[in-house]
Amino acid sequence: MAQEFERHAPRDPLPMPPPMGFPEKGQPESDVLGDIQDRITEDPFSIERNFGITYVGPPHPIVERVSTLTRGTYFVEWAREWVPSAYAFEKEAVRMMASLLGRPEATGFITSGGTESNMSAMRLARNLAGKSDPEIVMPTSAHYSFRLGAELFGVKLIETPVDAEMRPDMDSVRRAITPNTVALICSAPEGNFGQLDPVPDFAELALSHDLYLHVDGAFGGFILPFMRELGHDLVPFDLSVPGVSSFMTDGHKLGMLPVATGFFLIKDASMLTGIPVETTFIHTLTATKPGDHAAAAWAVMRHLGRAGYRASVARLLESVQVIVEGINQIEEVKLMVKPLISVINFTSDSVDMERVFNELSGRGWGSTFGDMNGKARIRLSLNPHRDHEHAHAFVAALKESVQAAR
Ligand SMILES: *Cc1c(COP(=O)(O)O)cnc(C)c1O
Repeated sequence: MAQEFERHAPRDPLPMPPPMGFPEKGQPESDVLGDIQDRITEDPFSIERNFGITYVGPPHPIVERVSTLTRGTYFVEWAREWVPSAYAFEKEAVRMMASLLGRPEATGFITSGGTESNMSAMRLARNLAGKSDPEIVMPTSAHYSFRLGAELFGVKLIETPVDAEMRPDMDSVRRAITPNTVALICSAPEGNFGQLDPVPDFAELALSHDLYLHVDGAFGGFILPFMRELGHDLVPFDLSVPGVSSFMTDGHKLGMLPVATGFFLIKDASMLTGIPVETTFIHTLTATKPGDHAAAAWAVMRHLGRAGYRASVARLLESVQVIVEGINQIEEVKLMVKPLISVINFTSDSVDMERVFNELSGRGWGSTFGDMNGKARIRLSLNPHRDHEHAHAFVAALKESVQAAR
């Protein structure tokens, strides 16, 4: 379970403000906007200095203009005749992603994000298999949304071990397959260390046992294809691998799209028989979805193209490299694993990492602190808006923070 990786400090399960009346009279726009400005200013870290849970950067600047043009539009399969533009933006964006991810003929949906995409895949796999006691096998490093899906869809989830660098034990995966198994799940990459699961090994198992294979590419879909184009040597991970049934990715992670833009891609349209819509009219887990997100996805892909995303990924990886070199130069801290993408984890045998974390926060730099495999660690997640100046400034702050914690 994820808890073995990360022990969160106990905290209030759901903090709420005191009861609040619904205002009788409206306030002037300038007052309301002023209040918003004040609140935002009180947030502890500026966007540039937050290396914590910030895989979500600001969307590409074109998105704001697209939203103005498409405000109030929405897409949902059953209303496509009413807002054909939004439906077309959605489906064309899906086709562009399908091409990027190895199978132009793949079908699919824009979802509200990774959680909805993962759950949609579990439901599809369960329905297509039609078994009475369905089970799904996944490495324990996979995202917790699969546990939510298992609960909702009455699927038994079998979690298999990974090693200290998040590599799944493939023997355990094989042994976990039973006559009740309906699907395998793997990640490209997993979210803890950002390491790529051996998708071809999972695909081979899926093919030989006639199982559905879903690949969670929440983080990877907008970086791995461009890394490959930039010459990085990666194992195959996408829909071009025979045996991969579906692939999902989040536009709001490294794709510069607005929050709540995910892609759920299904290998063949024939698999849509697993989504009964005769009485629900709903294909995914949400219905009415924002048309401006579909238009934004379409627009950013058209505007940046592969060349634009490649350049952005190259810049992002340069910043990662600056921080990696900085960590390597500081005697007291060390990487927990060689970063593959934009996620960096480091620990120490000699200084108190919680102290380092607090020192960084005190200097205005956001990061995440937690426990992983019994080691205190700091995790950084960079987004495409970081440049090497932010990275150098972070390294300087880290040096000071380690010095202070010594
Ligand atoms: C972020 C993430 C998800 C969930 O995505 P949301 O958009 O937050 O619902 C799923 N899987 C992985 C690997 C992720 O990093």
